[in-house]
Amino acid sequence: MKRKYIITASLVLLILFSMLACQPSISSSKKSIVVTYSILGSVVKELVGDKATVIVSIPNGLDPHEWEPSARDIEAINKADLVIENGLGLEGGMQKTLAAAKSNGVRFFTASDYITVRHVGSGEGIPSGDPDQALGAADPHLWMDPVGMKSVVSGLAPVLMKDLNLDVAAQAQSLEDRLDALNNEVSNTVASLPQDNRKLVTGHESMGYFAQRYGFKLVGVIVPSLSSEAEVSAADLATLKQAIDDNHVKAIFTELGTSPAVAKAIGDETGVKVIELTTHALPADGSYFTFMSDLATVITNALK
Ligand SMILES: [Zn+2]
Repeated sequence: MKRKYIITASLVLLILFSMLACQPSISSSKKSIVVTYSILGSVVKELVGDKATVIVSIPNGLDPHEWEPSARDIEAINKADLVIENGLGLEGGMQKTLAAAKSNGVRFFTASDYITVRHVGSGEGIPSGDPDQALGAADPHLWMDPVGMKSVVSGLAPVLMKDLNLDVAAQAQSLEDRLDALNNEVSNTVASLPQDNRKLVTGHESMGYFAQRYGFKLVGVIVPSLSSEAEVSAADLATLKQAIDDNHVKAIFTELGTSPAVAKAIGDETGVKVIELTTHALPADGSYFTFMSDLATVITNALK
């Protein structure tokens, strides 16, 4: 009788242990959200907190226009409970992977569906031609406007609550308030610049949403495209130099993917200073708020 009791007790313990061993760890039981690039990823992390696992595909500092996913990145995308992409062709090197995941039924949230999309206007230094990169093309650089980013948060929060069952209502409210405050802060920073100084020449056309929000004129771009990947011709550079002279531009900004040699040559020939601007990567603290704040300060100091 006693022996039978011991065997039963051991069996119960064995079953209990094996159940514990099979129990998924707390982190792997969380929902998995993949965000394509770091700047949007930073905002999503603030919204989600520790309620889900947020994976960013494109490592911070690499060019989102050209980065291509590895087999491991592709697996994470296909296993995700939600994939958050920018859209409008930003993730040039991920297009095939994202399209395949969509057709496999992976749930997607496209940030650019929630903003008022800006299209390239005339006089911005972008020629007509390739319909995806030329005059009239849709601008993917939506993170350059905190008000647009707030619209993205307002669109994403209900999706997280309804489809992923994550209670993010309080974080959404707080994040939206902070994005309003960020917009005010950037407005105050650039307020010290006279209207006539608010002229932007950048590496490629990445500052359109910023220009639209804060009253800057887009005078020209070193790479005449919405993407850093396009080519520069001698004729394009001649047109750009003329535009810099005509508009009395105070500084030109280089960014990720801009040839330093080309930027330096333009600076030397026009006598205008060349300033590095971080437009596609997060600062050391990983915060979108620091990113926008730094961006506004660098631009304002350069154009004074
Ligand atoms: Zn860009």
